[in-house]
Amino acid sequence: MLRVAVVGSGPSGVYTAQSLVQQDPDVRVDVLDRLPCPYGLVRYGVAPDHEKIKSLQGSLRTVLEHERVRFLGGIEVGAGGVPVTRLAESYHAVVYCVGAAADRRLGIPGEELPGSWSATEFVSWYSAHPDAVTGSFLAGVRSAVVIGVGNVAVDVTRILARGRAELSPTDMPQTALTALAASGVTDIGMVGRRGPSQARFTTKELRELGSLPDTDVLVDEAELAPDPAYGDPSGLPAAQRRNVEVLRGWAASPALGVRRRIRLRFFLRPVELIADAGRVGAVRFERTAPDGSGGVTGTGRYEEVEAQLVLRSVGYRGVPLEGLPFDAERGTVPHLAGRVLRSGAVAPGEYVAGWIKRGPTGVIGTNRSCAKETVTSLLEDAPALLRRPVPEDPLPPLRAAGAEPVGWDGWLAIERAEAELGASLGRGAVKLPDWDALWAAAGRERTADRYTRPPHRSSRHSV
Ligand code: NAP
Repeated sequence: MLRVAVVGSGPSGVYTAQSLVQQDPDVRVDVLDRLPCPYGLVRYGVAPDHEKIKSLQGSLRTVLEHERVRFLGGIEVGAGGVPVTRLAESYHAVVYCVGAAADRRLGIPGEELPGSWSATEFVSWYSAHPDAVTGSFLAGVRSAVVIGVGNVAVDVTRILARGRAELSPTDMPQTALTALAASGVTDIGMVGRRGPSQARFTTKELRELGSLPDTDVLVDEAELAPDPAYGDPSGLPAAQRRNVEVLRGWAASPALGVRRRIRLRFFLRPVELIADAGRVGAVRFERTAPDGSGGVTGTGRYEEVEAQLVLRSVGYRGVPLEGLPFDAERGTVPHLAGRVLRSGAVAPGEYVAGWIKRGPTGVIGTNRSCAKETVTSLLEDAPALLRRPVPEDPLPPLRAAGAEPVGWDGWLAIERAEAELGASLGRGAVKLPDWDALWAAAGRERTADRYTRPPHRSSRHSV
């Protein structure tokens, strides 16, 4: 009987477990996560007002409740946790689905000023990730700038513009709800360094900005100039053409003069965050121009945009896991069809799937085919893998390495506690906001190590 550990219970990990049990009638799968809660970015990354995507948790749950799948939360793998070598000895195969936990950096002066945050830090705060900083994101903020034009940028822009009535039905933690409902933000700029035809957001997400109550969406026609790389707009790929059509519609619509404005800006490259009284006060951009092949060049003309809050939404990057090879350039683990490569050679029994395999791109569903490719490789290797002796029960060696797993019952207890918290606040389920509350609900004492773990400023190691 094949025993497989999947490290990470986000979509790539759960789709890997699903593909394994569907394709092999005997396989047993343990899905490990450093958090006592499953679902990875579906729980801690998908915006709380995107109920339809959030509801994917239902189908991920079915997999984790499968009779041959076991959820083992609260297990850190790598530095300070269960070593990769111990996992390799305890299972026939290990599939690492640890995502891309850190943020890309801008590398410009002023990036570390108070008031400048990565979008991930903001998302973690309103998603109640237990490692989230408890910063005061919105105090005294009138004008916010979001750097980047991907779907995360759209998410944080939309959440900044939402009010209590729309946020209250979500599972957002109470502190974030209170702060966002009381926010004085009236102007939000979302800024791309290239043109509208190179923006990474998807049209459905973009359109949603146009339906926010009390909010004008403003686009300057001059920044929608056709990109010579594509000839006229009819030469654009369909998805980009739809984006440009939506933007053109907004550029042609008169502003209603309501309370909030979202300005979508293009061809502006951030060069510096400028301080005002010890915190960020503005972003200095250089105007760019298309270079004719999809990129841009600087023009030597500059513009400053007022901002007491800057959210850097320029993508994620993978972080190395101690004991696993890592391609620092790509931020991924080197692999061949999902088989981990060590010094260019296949490492028997080690696999990757999801963002740590292919980089932080694609939508949740992209992880299905990615996981399937990895599982196909693993099952091809199964006859050789089964020749390696492994313990009947992998839990004792994991416990000997310091792991104290929180099982599915612990997670269900957290779910109940979140429903009770929400009921006490007159809301639906509301997420528990910190480690202490999660451990207490799961019925596990926290350890000294967990008291002292510093909050992550620029990375979130949710797997
Ligand atoms: P992304 O799609 O890669 O977008 C990153 C943005 O940052 C791009 O506009 C990029 O511009 C810009 N950027 C990168 N470096 C920059 C720099 N130095 N200066 C200025 N701008 C810079 O990343 P993401 O928004 O974090 O999304 C990650 C993945 O999650 C994507 O696949 C996304 O679709 C997915 N996601 C999906 C949803 C949804 O389906 N609702 C929601 C959230 C996230 P360039 O193009 O010029 O590099």
